[in-house]
Amino acid sequence: MPAKKTSSKKPAAKKTTKTTASKKAVTKKPVAKKKVTKPKKFVTPQAVRGMKDLLPRDEQYWRLMYNTAQQFADAYGYGRIQTPVVEEAVLFSRSIGEGTDVVDKEMYTFNNSDGDALALRPEFTAGIARAYITCGMHSESQPVKVWSWGPLFRHDRPQAGRYRQFHQWSVEALGARDAVLDAELIAMAYNSVASLGIDTVVHINSIGSLEDRDRYIIELTGFLRSKRSYLSETSKARLTKNPLRILDSKEEQDQVVLEEAPQILDWISEDARKYFMSVLEYLDELEIPYILKPTLVRGLDYYTDTVFELYETEKEDGSQTALGGGGRYDLLVQQLGGRETPAAGFALGIERVISAMRRNEQDNDYVYADPRLQSDIYFAQLGVQARRKALGIIEGLRKAEIYVHHNLGKSSLKQQLEQANKHGVTHSVILGQQEVQDGTIIIRDMESGNQEIVDQKKLEKELKRILKK
Ligand code: AMP
Repeated sequence: MPAKKTSSKKPAAKKTTKTTASKKAVTKKPVAKKKVTKPKKFVTPQAVRGMKDLLPRDEQYWRLMYNTAQQFADAYGYGRIQTPVVEEAVLFSRSIGEGTDVVDKEMYTFNNSDGDALALRPEFTAGIARAYITCGMHSESQPVKVWSWGPLFRHDRPQAGRYRQFHQWSVEALGARDAVLDAELIAMAYNSVASLGIDTVVHINSIGSLEDRDRYIIELTGFLRSKRSYLSETSKARLTKNPLRILDSKEEQDQVVLEEAPQILDWISEDARKYFMSVLEYLDELEIPYILKPTLVRGLDYYTDTVFELYETEKEDGSQTALGGGGRYDLLVQQLGGRETPAAGFALGIERVISAMRRNEQDNDYVYADPRLQSDIYFAQLGVQARRKALGIIEGLRKAEIYVHHNLGKSSLKQQLEQANKHGVTHSVILGQQEVQDGTIIIRDMESGNQEIVDQKKLEKELKRILKK
């Protein structure tokens, strides 16, 4: 009895132990348990700053933009080229130029274990020009017209519309110098964005030949030196390194100085001026809206003659909102060790175009939906037999190009129909025990709730009729 008494006072957990050894143990002083140190929870690494995950919910925009790029490239006769993401670093420093932000500050460079200095590509043009030489494309019919699509890397300060990994659609025509080609490239950039319902305007300028530009730089530098004390600190630093970049400055104090600065159009040769006038005439002919921008020089070394950028109409002034840009680069291929090969091209920033699409949806009731990304119907099932039968029917429908969403793991019809509504399908198909036995299946109109029973063999035909497929 006393033993019983003592045991009834013991904590419940210990009561369950039945061996004599454990009974003895409970009379002893409890031994302090060893503290078990929990393993430290691994802190999930964040995505690298300035680099974004592109999720399925964004896919409709990416798909639409990619399809647009592909269709326009096909229509204008450009073939796809895919160059490596990694190139020799010298390719970019040679082509884009030392003294440019892209090369001096923003390139992701590294040495591999062989000691090669490599870089993640910050743009497409240099890699494409390299491939033109190394893959012997100069022996093909000229101009060689190519396009590319993919990620680029610049270690720039991340901010709205500026990422460290971003994407471009790049279009290049190598092996011809003709104003009509410049105009056609501008039209292609403009029309592709316009086809997405985005209102844009082209900013355009000519920077003439290399000699024109060198003469202009001397003139500009002289002028800016005389106004040095009025310039921003960044512009002062650029005076010696890359005075042309001062023209890009958005600082108000620089703007005041720049209003009186010499303009490059006054310094280009007669030939360059004539060429530029032809480009503008073609643009008039094609009814492409443009604005002459005397300060537009685009910071890279390889440009000659025509330079342009594409801006959303309402956001013409903002420096961050250029949707794309391009120009002529007649000297690049030669600079990279190839033959004399005039060329021109443009690149659109995909993230920027997609932001414009999103704004369009918000402000102008636009809907960018890709029907191929939406399921046609939802398949709901009830019971073990129905679930077993369902997979085969679903596979059959998919083969017939009817896209089916389902969650065969769920057994409640209510939950399944709720999910169907979330997917926004117009119709669901329901297979229960009874239907399995009868060889029938239910088609439910999700809006009205009306249901019809059809023969399983006629399901595909009936759905095609309903979905107008
Ligand atoms: P660029 O090669 O600098 O002429 O850029 C062409 C286009 O790519 C720009 O007009 C932007 O739309 C886009 N772009 C350039 N740099 C970035 C970046 N860091 N992040 C996002 N888009 C960019």
